[in-house]
Amino acid sequence: MREIDLSEVTEKIKETLIRINHELDDSLVTAFNRAKDKEKDDLSRSILDDIIQNQDIARKGSAPLCQDTGMVVVFAEIGSDLFYEGNLDEAINKGVSEAYTDGYLRKSVVNDPFDRINTKDNTPAIIHHKIVDGSQLKLNLASKGAGSENMSKVVMLKPSDGIEGVKQLVLDTIFDAGGKPCPPLIVGVGIGGNLEKSALIAKEAVLRDLDDESDNETIRAMERDLYEAINRLGVGPMGVGGETTCLAVKINTFPMHIASLPVAINIQCHSSRHEVIVL
Ligand code: SF4
Repeated sequence: MREIDLSEVTEKIKETLIRINHELDDSLVTAFNRAKDKEKDDLSRSILDDIIQNQDIARKGSAPLCQDTGMVVVFAEIGSDLFYEGNLDEAINKGVSEAYTDGYLRKSVVNDPFDRINTKDNTPAIIHHKIVDGSQLKLNLASKGAGSENMSKVVMLKPSDGIEGVKQLVLDTIFDAGGKPCPPLIVGVGIGGNLEKSALIAKEAVLRDLDDESDNETIRAMERDLYEAINRLGVGPMGVGGETTCLAVKINTFPMHIASLPVAINIQCHSSRHEVIVL
């Protein structure tokens, strides 16, 4: 049995949220630069240049990457040999509150679908829990903006729709979204499970590393095909047209009922702010 102090969790959540709202992962910056070098369209290239300059300014600490500093999502994997005194969710939410208050990040969470009163510290975070073997605490943490989340969806396809039906659904979703989710995008697709499971694995998919490919040959081929097909849609950076609509497609799958083919598409904008914390 290993013991951790939950004040460490609060401190780490606070520090990470402030940092990821100012500093994009280097792999993403490399992907922007690679896309800019490939783009033939002048306007698209200049938008990519703006995105690159914007993240550079944010990195120097002047302002967050985007005015929408997101709602916090945490996938918590809790080792069964880990012990702590107190309430993990409270420790996480305290870190969120301190990050958004002390870090001057926009508070974007309202208390109720219809009262819509701002909670004033960006809490509560959306926290998913899983008990795993071991004595570590792993927190996969994201600040998810609403522009891209609003264009995401879950659809219950028929099993007979097959691979082509899933691909068409993804392409239609990205085309219909146009510039609203702030492309270039990372597209997370969850196939299988049921209604809520497909949405969860799609969210986990957008948090995968940019260069991570599926171990499954069929799914890996789908990820590559969809990446190419989405970039042929002509939506382009911020919807101005061009060849860079997405930077990656990630597909996660799960077993499902014989009569179902649930598909969730979780769209992540270019301001992809996430990090894994291990304590
Ligand atoms: S979708 Fe992303 S880049 Fe666009 S406003 Fe929201 S957080 Fe910012």
